[in-house]
Amino acid sequence: MIARVEFLRSLGAATTIATGGFDVWDPLTPQIRVLVAADTGGAMPQVAPDATFAFGGKRWRGAPSTIGMPGGRLALVTTIDVDEYLLGVVPLEAPPSWPAAALQAQAIVARTYALGRRSLSRPYDVRADDADQHWGGVEAEVPAATAAVQATRGRTLTYGGSAASVYYSSCCGGRTADVTAVWGGTPQVYLRGVDDPHCVAAPDYRWTRDVALDRVLAAFGPRTGGTLASAALGDADAQGRARAVVLSGTVQTSIPVAEFRRALGYEVVRSSWLRGIRVESTQAAPRLVIEGSGRGHGVGLCQWGSRFYASSGASAAEILAFYFPGTSVSGG
Ligand SMILES: [Zn+2]
Repeated sequence: MIARVEFLRSLGAATTIATGGFDVWDPLTPQIRVLVAADTGGAMPQVAPDATFAFGGKRWRGAPSTIGMPGGRLALVTTIDVDEYLLGVVPLEAPPSWPAAALQAQAIVARTYALGRRSLSRPYDVRADDADQHWGGVEAEVPAATAAVQATRGRTLTYGGSAASVYYSSCCGGRTADVTAVWGGTPQVYLRGVDDPHCVAAPDYRWTRDVALDRVLAAFGPRTGGTLASAALGDADAQGRARAVVLSGTVQTSIPVAEFRRALGYEVVRSSWLRGIRVESTQAAPRLVIEGSGRGHGVGLCQWGSRFYASSGASAAEILAFYFPGTSVSGG
């Protein structure tokens, strides 16, 4: 049992700390619990008169509380209306200069994602970092994103009358990925791959990166006999995407693409859609050259595609219907 130590606001005003049970929440602006820090290091949130609080050099919204975690650590969680949280999420996920419809689509997807993460078995629902959605707090808020959150108040993505499971990433590379190809599990009709003509002008639509062979060997050398002579893509899935990278030294090994990305870093291996891989040993320092399409996992909403589709006149509902076929926008 996790002990909760709550710091009530010093204002004497009604607090918004939810003590359990979703039924107390306003259905249009349900509350969520956001993990601001997994370990406070002994620091305390400083609650301000304007219903914000300072912690870790930033200002945040909601009602902060600390939670005792295993090992004696204290975590900081804030309980907050989901739309207040979205004010500091949407501007970090979609540049405020993007068309309003793209910002609104992002707001609906981010709201659906956050509400879908509500859990009675965890002491928080979402993390404030990239493990869920990056929340930048009050300083991240900008008027264009705030307008998108307000314009979509209460709206979420549904499928067959139930909340949809939503994902998004920066650029799909021309076709979104099937959810099962990336994470396995059960196929979902609205998370199948769709051809995307909208993101062709995105910065990472096609990319090439190279990595020093030393770095590759540091990660995979023990599995290739300590050398690397050649590299190739492994068998393709039903959508034609390689499932693995085959590295050949004195020993040949097959590395699943997800593991390959994790080991070499997401800045280098920018997506799960690899188009080519080779060893270039003609240079003084041999390198592994990797080519691919898109940025991120590619499942669900393509953010760059959404931006260009919105520029051509699509509404948020049309954007979402394109990337999540068969879903609809409910509420609000
Ligand atoms: Zn795309």
